[in-house]
This record gives sequence, C-alpha cells and structure tokens, in this order.
Amino acid sequence: MSNLLEVKGVTKRFGGVIANKDVTFSVETGNITGLIGPNGAGKSTMFNMVSAVFPPTEGEIWFQGKRIDQLPSYKVAPLGISRTFQNLQVFKTMTVLENVMVGLHTKTKSGIVAAALKTKKMRQEEEDMYENALQWIDFVGLSDVVATEASNLPLGKLRLLELARALATSPSLLLLDEIAAGLNNQETLEMANLIKAIRDKGISIFVVEHDMDLVMTICDKIIVLDQGEKIAEGTPKEVQSNERVVEAYLGA
Ligand code: ADP
Ligand code: MG
Repeated sequence: MSNLLEVKGVTKRFGGVIANKDVTFSVETGNITGLIGPNGAGKSTMFNMVSAVFPPTEGEIWFQGKRIDQLPSYKVAPLGISRTFQNLQVFKTMTVLENVMVGLHTKTKSGIVAAALKTKKMRQEEEDMYENALQWIDFVGLSDVVATEASNLPLGKLRLLELARALATSPSLLLLDEIAAGLNNQETLEMANLIKAIRDKGISIFVVEHDMDLVMTICDKIIVLDQGEKIAEGTPKEVQSNERVVEAYLGA
C-alpha cells in the first residue's frame, strides 16, 4: 500500500502555544485513517494544515509525491483533497442540489462572457457536473430532498449534504471533521456504513472523530495525539490497549 499523504516532522506554533510538535505519520491509499486525542490535542490544527488553511511552522506535508505545505488552499483542493467542516458550511437558502453544484463551479473556468458563448464542450461539461452531483446526492441518500432548501433539513441530513458536496469534487483524499457530531445512534451507524462504502469506492479517508465506537469500527489505522504530540499509532486494537493512550484519555 502506498502513502497518499505524508506528514513529516510537523510543528505548528501559535505565538507561545505549540499546537503540534514534531508530528510524523502517513495516510495510506485505500485506507480509513483516524486522528484522535483529547480536547486541545492538535487535531483540528493538523487538519487545517493538511487542507492548507495555514502552513506548518516547521516540517513538510506531501500529497501523492508532491510537497504541498507551502501551497495556498485553492491550489491544494484541485490536487484531490476535499474536506467537510465540523461547523457546517452549507448555504441555508440553497437547495441540496445547488449546494452540491456550488462546490463544483470553482472547477470550471467559464466566466460570464464564456457562459454567454457556451461551446458544445462547455455545455457537456455542465451536464456532466450535474449528473455527477445527482449521483453523489443519491449515494448519500438525499435523492428525495434534492430540491429542498437546506434550511428545512435536520442536522443529520445536513451532514450528509456536506459529505455529498465534498465527494462531488472527486477527491482522492477526503477529510472528515467530526462528521458524526450531533447524530443519533441510528444516524451514526448509517454514517459509518457510508464512510466504509466511500472507502470501497477507492477514496481514501482521514477522520477526526470524538465518537470512539465509530472510530474503532471504521478505521484501518489510528493516530493518537496528546498535547500536540503523536503518542501512538496502530490498528484500533493496538491503540485501545496502548497505555499512553489510556492515560491520555483518563487524564492520568
Ligand atoms: P483539537 O482539535 O485536538 O481539540 P486544536 O488543534 O483545536 O485541538 O488546538 C490545539 C491547541 O492549539 C490548543 O491549545 C488551541 O488553543 C491552540 N490553537 C488552535 N488554533 C489556534 C489559533 N488559531 N490561535 C491560537 N491558538 C490556537
Ligand atoms: Mg478540534
């Protein structure tokens, strides 16, 4: 299995705060990899660096053999990294379909003039985008609300909408930031199945998640952070029985 993402000796400082300290790990192609740790461990900071919200203070991040840690986010996303946000980023007054389509328009180059002079090729491109959006909406199970305004959807469906939008950009690496937060047991179970189905489609997944049951069920590998440092890495079984991990979670 090859490394899709490589984080090498990454440190992030915010003034005097060290949010990540010399962290090294990799995410392999075809895997679901989990990133866990107590509050303030540095999980979100790591996600933000991988999706190029801000660069590391030290260290390197490589994606598909290309160094990405100094690139702006608009150059990283088209390489095939897509993410969902812990705080939902849907447009409330748009429909499900519009929300998924809006993420795709960054991918076409057509401006207003070009749109007025649409070539056959451009119309075909739009048609494909539309079909692609509908396909992912169907995949996450939102077909019956495709024309519903997001403001009318419950949290569970909004999380699915975020997922569909991220998937529609055709990522090879999907970052999920607490995708199950606020979901009930049934919804969490369905989300777990969906994440596994996405992995089975060949999309590699990197998740930050609080729900330990979910993490332990879906992940092939788990990386554990505590106070900015990596304290363990391994299969769910290995990590669960790791003394340092148990201590970190019990606050010992
Ligand atoms: P986690 O997601 O694991 O709960 P974070 O990555 O959010 O942890 O935070 C790690 C540490 O970095 C915390 O001490 C937090 O206060 C600090 N931190 C995170 N983002 C910023 C920021 N933008 N400015 C200053 N400190 C930050
Ligand atoms: Mg966080």
